Amino acid sequence: MSAILVWVDMQEIRCGRCHALLFKAGQGAIAGAIQIKCRRCGTLNWLRPVEPLIRAEERDGKEQDDAERSDP
Ligand SMILES: [Zn+2]
Repeated sequence: MSAILVWVDMQEIRCGRCHALLFKAGQGAIAGAIQIKCRRCGTLNWLRPVEPLIRAEERDGKEQDDAERSDP
């Protein structure tokens, strides 16, 4: 049997102090503030959803030149 990863867009939430992995959340899974205590160092981490700052503005400036076709 093989594991199948369906959820691709997972974000790793790590401790702000020891950088231990707290949990993983998908995009939009966190609707409000979260308070979670790190299991490793005991630090109380306050989390809040962060809006994605990625703005994809990709404009293709490629000019497609029509290839000259020589009819036989
Ligand atoms: Zn920690």
